Amino acid sequence: MAIIRTVLGDIAADRAGLTLTHEHVRYAYSGCEYDHHNVWEFNDVAETIARVMKSGVADYGIKTLVDLTPPEIGRHPELIAEVQRRSGMQIVAATGFYAERMGIPFYWRRKSIDYIADMMVRDLTEGMVYDNRFTPYRAGTIKIATGGMGPEPTPQEKNGRRIGPAEDRVIRAAGRAQKRIGCSINTHTLPIDYSVTNPALEMLDVLEAEGADPSKVIMGHVFIKPQLDQLKAICERGANLQIDHIGIKWYTPTADALDEQMTDLICRLTDLGYLDQILFSYDRFFHHGRGPMTDEEPDQDNTKVPIGYLFDNFAPRLAKKGFGKDELRHVLVDNPRRVLAI
Ligand SMILES: [Zn+2]
Repeated sequence: MAIIRTVLGDIAADRAGLTLTHEHVRYAYSGCEYDHHNVWEFNDVAETIARVMKSGVADYGIKTLVDLTPPEIGRHPELIAEVQRRSGMQIVAATGFYAERMGIPFYWRRKSIDYIADMMVRDLTEGMVYDNRFTPYRAGTIKIATGGMGPEPTPQEKNGRRIGPAEDRVIRAAGRAQKRIGCSINTHTLPIDYSVTNPALEMLDVLEAEGADPSKVIMGHVFIKPQLDQLKAICERGANLQIDHIGIKWYTPTADALDEQMTDLICRLTDLGYLDQILFSYDRFFHHGRGPMTDEEPDQDNTKVPIGYLFDNFAPRLAKKGFGKDELRHVLVDNPRRVLAI
């Protein structure tokens, strides 16, 4: 039977319901655990996050969300489990790593591809390790990433791709782990890289060389900068497109401008027959582990987007362009159930 693996156990895939595929229970860059400004209280944070998620469940019918936070960016298995208990939101956690310019700790850069793949498989089948403890909480998907911090495109590497050497090993490990477990893989690509290459296809080349199934791969951040023909090329390879940053400005002056651009692309892809390969999410930070706000490091809209924005603002904009309730249900219920199923 096809299942979806939440941190509190497996559910039948058809019980996933309305699902968001890329969110963050807690988002915090590596190193913040040594910052006096960043000490947090487990119960308070769990309660604050659960309150917002409960509203997502009760007011908007969101049943499941994927916490796509890799371990070195603040993934906290016990917090995720506690939030699921308190909110009733079914939460899928991730193994894997972020891009090497912001993540992949030195320890893991020295490990072989198979060693990394074994860690991913143990996260997915036995439970994730946290702070010198085994936990019973299992991951249900794999996160991989490429790209720098922008605004310039990521430089090309010796391998001819914009994929760093440590990222290449993590991506290959993800491909091997995916082949063993049959789970989904979800990715971070840098929007500006679409001006010089198709970073999603670069990743697919590496994943498929390791035997991964492209129909279980979700390409993230693909709607911010790319052209229609680049999105079509990803679909033609069998992979899925994630529309994220709904209600969150990135590379555009306002969230509204990005919504307008994304809804146009969604409708054009739907007309071309790619509705089965589209997924929606916010990329919301339910808790942002960070120091004080400064001019150099202002607050990010990822922490502020209302949990109902997709339904109150984005869906009506889509409906005006002919993308109705049936299409919305297909993208929010049928597609994630198929892609996330193990
Ligand atoms: Zn994210």
